[in-house]
Amino acid sequence: MLRLSTLALLACSVPALAQEINVYSHRQPELIQPLVDAFTAETGIAVNVAFVDKGMAERLVAEGDRSPADLVLTVDIARLMQIVEADVVQPVQSDVLEANIPAELRDPEDKWFGLTARARIIYASKDRVAASEVTTYEDLASDKWKGRICSRSGLHDYNVALLGAIIAHHDEAYATTWAEGVKANLARKPDGGDRDQVKAIAAGECDIAIGNTYYMGQMLADPEQVPAAESVNIVFPTFEAGGTHLNISGVAMTKAAPNRENALKFMEWLSGDAAQKIYAETNHEYPVKTGVERSALVASWGEFTPDAKTLAEIAAQRPAAVKIMETVDFDG
Ligand code: FE
Repeated sequence: MLRLSTLALLACSVPALAQEINVYSHRQPELIQPLVDAFTAETGIAVNVAFVDKGMAERLVAEGDRSPADLVLTVDIARLMQIVEADVVQPVQSDVLEANIPAELRDPEDKWFGLTARARIIYASKDRVAASEVTTYEDLASDKWKGRICSRSGLHDYNVALLGAIIAHHDEAYATTWAEGVKANLARKPDGGDRDQVKAIAAGECDIAIGNTYYMGQMLADPEQVPAAESVNIVFPTFEAGGTHLNISGVAMTKAAPNRENALKFMEWLSGDAAQKIYAETNHEYPVKTGVERSALVASWGEFTPDAKTLAEIAAQRPAAVKIMETVDFDG
């Protein structure tokens, strides 16, 4: 009994002594865990991760000053902007973050920081699409693709960001015509995720699909999805007057952050060599830090020029892009 109560006392004293931080994450558990494990092994700081699928901004607003969360990890500039606009994050000044992350992949006001990049590209049937056939994003609305395109929902953040970039390159009227044109070229109603579109290509339902690069890595890691992955090439389209559309996953510090100092250590560590390498190897994303190698698989897809429109510019078009997707009834 004595021993038990001693243990109980010890257990009670742990929270006050423990070095820990709390992370709310939109990102999948299996992706975050290797990063968390490596950081804890190196620093002794425990990282508690709560996976928040929906309503991140609402939850942080509701919790207010009492939120246990120090950091938010999420994909897509839109979701980062949502928490910035909900006024639940604080700016972070850090020489390490500034040195590791290129300026175009972080907030000019230091409220969000990109940790990985992904390109939104075309998966093209090896049998039915010649490499030269895929050219620009604008060309996806041309008649030559009639009945040949598969896509996930037009209202998914990834496609909203792509349409936001179309607006940024042209204007809303052009983007509306483009979205109508792509819709008219769809082989079937939008359904499922990016990988489901690749499977539809393998099944002969369509010839090309819009998708993020890392899904190829994920499909090749799953024996059941290998045949679909091997039925397609990755092609990097560009905007007529630009490069290939990029998006990010990123991190932001909450306003409430009870463990600010250690949370900053984790942010900085995520932008450093060790973490960037884990991101590259485990999720086949592009590291943001210069000098960190892409995975061999990602490198095998070849080089491309990232579009020069900044993520902030693209995110600013989000409300207009959502409205256009609804107006043209892209998913209908
Ligand atoms: Fe994704």
